Amino acid sequence: MPFSRWSSKQERTFGKKKEKWNGDFRTPPKPNCYYTKVKGKCRWCGKKILKDDGTVNKRKSWHKKCVNQYMLIYHSRERRAILRRRDKSRCAKCNKISRKWDVDHIRPLIEQKGLKEEDLDYTYYSVDNLQTLCKKCHREKSNSEVPLKKKTKFHNNFFGERKKQDMISNDYHIKVYEGLIEYGKYSGTHWYGLQSEKTPVWKWIQHRIVKETPNQDIFDIYLVGGLIETWLTWDADILILGPYDPPKIYETLDTITRIGFEEHFWIDVSYQDRLWDIHNSNNWIRDEEFGECRLSNHWSKNGKADEGLLKYEYRHGLYQSIKVLPFQKHLDNSEKLGYKYKAPIKLNK
Ligand SMILES: [Zn+2]
Ligand SMILES: [Zn+2]
Repeated sequence: MPFSRWSSKQERTFGKKKEKWNGDFRTPPKPNCYYTKVKGKCRWCGKKILKDDGTVNKRKSWHKKCVNQYMLIYHSRERRAILRRRDKSRCAKCNKISRKWDVDHIRPLIEQKGLKEEDLDYTYYSVDNLQTLCKKCHREKSNSEVPLKKKTKFHNNFFGERKKQDMISNDYHIKVYEGLIEYGKYSGTHWYGLQSEKTPVWKWIQHRIVKETPNQDIFDIYLVGGLIETWLTWDADILILGPYDPPKIYETLDTITRIGFEEHFWIDVSYQDRLWDIHNSNNWIRDEEFGECRLSNHWSKNGKADEGLLKYEYRHGLYQSIKVLPFQKHLDNSEKLGYKYKAPIKLNK
């Protein structure tokens, strides 16, 4: 049974019409059976409430465990009581016991913001997603979630029903592409097209790359290509530079690729033996050769494969090739349009 006192709210809505959810992601809507007045049927899970002998208990309208789940979501005092009993006021980050502590959602609730009722993930509200944090650690966690908050607002507006059309602001132009991209073992749909490395979406992805990518003591991570040239692009070109160490290269490429698929922005990441000279636009080296390593030689968009990757040779667990720059598009941009390429942006350290 719940620790805190049962509120009179529960009775009042029993048998009444279901109220329309106001969209507050902190208080998700209650299920239909919450409002249906049938004794012997649980108001939370909608299943029968049985007595020990297997017959329906017509005097009850809640399962014991369902009351707890309900109270955990809708009663902040109950949430605190449950956590106090489980964690004994000990901070999950710094391990200190303090009388002043906060209830924290491990996966932040903000990720549910802007979602439609049927898309909400109720595991966000479960006890497994709660932790005790002291005031200091809670503040630090909240601060680190600022890029996530900005990006979530963007993402849910964008992929939710509210806005499906292009978004244009002063700094950036964003499109959505609802196709299937496959690369090696990864596949995914719903893709961003971004125009600038300044979008909250890219800022968040970059934050994750710097935080989660291994081997940053030996590899430098550079952003090159369309995103920094500020034209609308479907990919981020990322280069990994450092010593030739195939297992570590594989691990690094794999992490960055996975982040791209998780975040719905295709990251074209490769290991290269040096930076492209094309960015030194005053004085390019023509027919410049450089070695490239990739995770896979299979990339396709809606089933249409990039045949160019088939020329890559499989060696030491990676697909490897020698590429020659500049490409025709670089020459066209530079010679016909007088475009100067921007310097690569180093993402780590
Ligand atoms: Zn139940
Ligand atoms: Zn702490």
